[in-house]
Amino acid sequence: EAAINRIAAGEVVERPASAVKELVENAIDAGARRIEITYADGGKTLIRVTDDGCGITPGDLPLALSRHATSKIDGSDLLNIHTFGFRGEALPSLGAVGRLTIASRAPDADAAEMTIAGGTPSAVKPTALNGGTVVTLRDLFYATPARLKFMRTDRAEAQAITDTVKRLAMAEPHIGFVLRDVSGGGAGRTVFRADPETGDLMGAMSQRLTRILGREFTDNAIAIDADRDGLAMTGYAALPTYSRGSAVAQYLFVNGRPVRDKMLTGALRAAYRDLLSRDRHPAAALFIECEGRLVDVNVHPAKSEVRFRDPGAARGLIVSGLRHALAEQGH
Ligand code: ADP
Ligand code: MG
Repeated sequence: EAAINRIAAGEVVERPASAVKELVENAIDAGARRIEITYADGGKTLIRVTDDGCGITPGDLPLALSRHATSKIDGSDLLNIHTFGFRGEALPSLGAVGRLTIASRAPDADAAEMTIAGGTPSAVKPTALNGGTVVTLRDLFYATPARLKFMRTDRAEAQAITDTVKRLAMAEPHIGFVLRDVSGGGAGRTVFRADPETGDLMGAMSQRLTRILGREFTDNAIAIDADRDGLAMTGYAALPTYSRGSAVAQYLFVNGRPVRDKMLTGALRAAYRDLLSRDRHPAAALFIECEGRLVDVNVHPAKSEVRFRDPGAARGLIVSGLRHALAEQGH
């Protein structure tokens, strides 16, 4: 059973950045307004995610750490998933490949914590915490040396963590994010910080994109607002004059989740086909929304690919939505 858990866990947790993604998604699902992420040694020795969300009661803690236990879905809801998690796999998987401690306090309940290491859970103990949840993951893959070997340098893993946090922060402009590198101890170094943006979603989104991608991007991008075949797309797409050479600045989201999907990036490329030379990449941050039944985001446990029920419709939305907006600007 422990061995099976570890194999399955490797599917969900490939590297420190995937652990960060799962933990931050949980914090978002918990309704957090501020999320702090700290890591040491590229996340290999320490990852800690602190949130001010709804917390977990002492009675529910063992449930949160058990396989396929999720508080986020009941059978009737399988096709309409609005929260990130629904498989109840992340915490037990992390507890199978590292030493995981979760401390939490729900309103009107006592604070409690529980540890799970190498798949073995501890008893629930009282702890001190004002509210929210602190998840600490130490020594990722210590029990699976084969996986340890596949990890890249601390610097490369830290870069992947930063990229993951920035993508999640783009999709959640009303949530504040702080990312800190505490390698070597002490207060550490702030790698990234975005306070909660104010105002309506579109305004908050543009402020957040400016903060993350720079004013040069937002000043040279057009607002996108298109819909077609039950799919809607908002966001910003750079004018062809702001295209990038080597650095690809393409941020795509489906129902609030960052995705990396060949079909979608291909559509983005096609929209700019006659406007950019072959060695340039269009820059864009695009948010596609649709009913849950029109898209399957559960293709792979790491969840960054998507499968649309009608891929042609998704492609058409991107190509025609962007072409139309660019044409209006005279391109
Ligand atoms: P999933 O997110 O797919 O439900 P997880 O293993 O990631 O599965 O989490 C299991 C459960 O633990 C969640 O359904 C939720 O009830 C609880 N949980 C996890 N992280 C948090 C958090 N930061 N705040 C509140 N509850 C949490
Ligand atoms: Mg989860």
